[in-house]
Amino acid sequence: MVGFRYLEGSALTYRNHYMSHRAITVARGDGIGPEIMDAALHILTEAGARLEIEEIRIGEKVFLSGHPTGVEPDAWESIRRTRVFLKAPITTPQGGGFKSLNVTTRKMFGLYANVRPCVAYHPFVATKHPGMDVVIVRENEEDLYAGIEHRQTDQVVQCLKLISRAGCERIVRYAFEYARRNNRKKVTCFTKDNIMKLTDGLFHKVFDEIAREYPDLAGEHWIVDIGAAKLADTPCVFDVVVMPNLYGDILSDVAAQIAGSVGLAGSANIGEKFAMFEAIHGSAPRRAGQNVANPSGLLHGAIMMLVHIGQPEVASLVHNAWLKTMEDGVHTYDVFAAGVSKEKVGTREFARAVVERLGQSPEQLRAVQYFAGASQWTAASSPAPKAKKELAGVDVFLDHVGDEPRELARRLEDCATGRLVLHNIAARGVKVYPDGFPEAVTGDHWRCRFAGHGVVSHRDVIDLLSRLEAAGFDFIKTEHLYNFDGQAGFTA
Ligand code: NAD
Repeated sequence: MVGFRYLEGSALTYRNHYMSHRAITVARGDGIGPEIMDAALHILTEAGARLEIEEIRIGEKVFLSGHPTGVEPDAWESIRRTRVFLKAPITTPQGGGFKSLNVTTRKMFGLYANVRPCVAYHPFVATKHPGMDVVIVRENEEDLYAGIEHRQTDQVVQCLKLISRAGCERIVRYAFEYARRNNRKKVTCFTKDNIMKLTDGLFHKVFDEIAREYPDLAGEHWIVDIGAAKLADTPCVFDVVVMPNLYGDILSDVAAQIAGSVGLAGSANIGEKFAMFEAIHGSAPRRAGQNVANPSGLLHGAIMMLVHIGQPEVASLVHNAWLKTMEDGVHTYDVFAAGVSKEKVGTREFARAVVERLGQSPEQLRAVQYFAGASQWTAASSPAPKAKKELAGVDVFLDHVGDEPRELARRLEDCATGRLVLHNIAARGVKVYPDGFPEAVTGDHWRCRFAGHGVVSHRDVIDLLSRLEAAGFDFIKTEHLYNFDGQAGFTA
């Protein structure tokens, strides 16, 4: 544990010694990280945040000092102890080095919800959407980010998209609870369930189910492509938007950027037991060590942290002082605009300007008031319903060249068993047999569907595979076709 170095010696005098302090873990990160963390912590302590800081070292510097994971051995222990992590940006080495520590932290600590408020500060920060005030709630653990990828043939690689009912319930319920506790009026869901009927379909279905439990809030669903276009064009029609991981990753950056600047937004990563707070931008190495970086993104992360740890009054104090600073035109270079801004300041000067305004409220921008419970709760998922599961067939994927679909089908039919018969063949998701389009482009990757006569067993699949092997086929993967309570658990 490393002690925290205060920027100004007087910081401690503002602490209220009669109230208990909350232990948090802090990482100063790389690039501009240490400067903006100093600035943010300075503001927090001057505002009377009751914090006991354990500092850990993670990131590029740690990697370069000989720790291949980019993490000092004791670092995770501190987070396990404090359960709250305020993290400055870290540099992720490109083309080698350690794995993304952000992804690792989210997975290790079960941080399933990523919450990112995207707010315009018109007319003090240039924006195309003056009234924008949207919160993106992104599912943080599932979807294509499970990182399960395979090369299957010369031409084809795959990435598995995994969505669980429990994961959907947790994130959707989180979004509705967040909306209710933060006086929001509407929750919108983005998916692509017209195409991904099972995975995104489950997300949408769970959204509809949970929306019914919150009659005080409007609930709506958009297909993600047109939803994204609408978000970029008319963000003011949205309030809280919940979505699966990949769409959320992309659209939360879009939303932050169109609000004004990625340099201003913070984010919270929330789990059942742990939480991590950060800026959304990276370590901006080219700006490091120059006292020019804007600490506002990290400060907004820290404000969410204060609400989370039960110090909403300090969060409001800091947020309103920050709004007043923006209103007074005291701006760092990234948001400075001649004619609007009054004073261009560095990182430290900006922090001092916020501290000077503690206790003041904005006059034009909307003042904020946080209250206890606006962030901390557990969005539990219900136990998964147990369905009757029956094996109905198997998709066998082949790495195969040299045969036209009809010839391939003839050879596969020879391998069929009494229990499993060839039903159809598809190439890249397009049916090529029977009745396939002759124009369909095929390659070396085939999905051959064998349907069962009634309920089939694993032994029937093994028999089929034995026959395919004997006939010289290279099966690269099988996917079992199950019915759940009589309903197909696979796409037609
Ligand atoms: P970046 O966000 O670090 O910087 C892009 C540009 O935005 C900078 O050059 C700078 O001009 C500006 N900028 C960003 N933050 C600013 C601030 N606070 N004040 C003023 N200007 C600011 O993106 P990048 O250059 O693509 O990434 C740099 C490194 O950060 C990479 O190694 C990347 O992997 C890492 N990264 C880390 C995180 C994280 O730790 N959460 C997030 C994103 C990127």
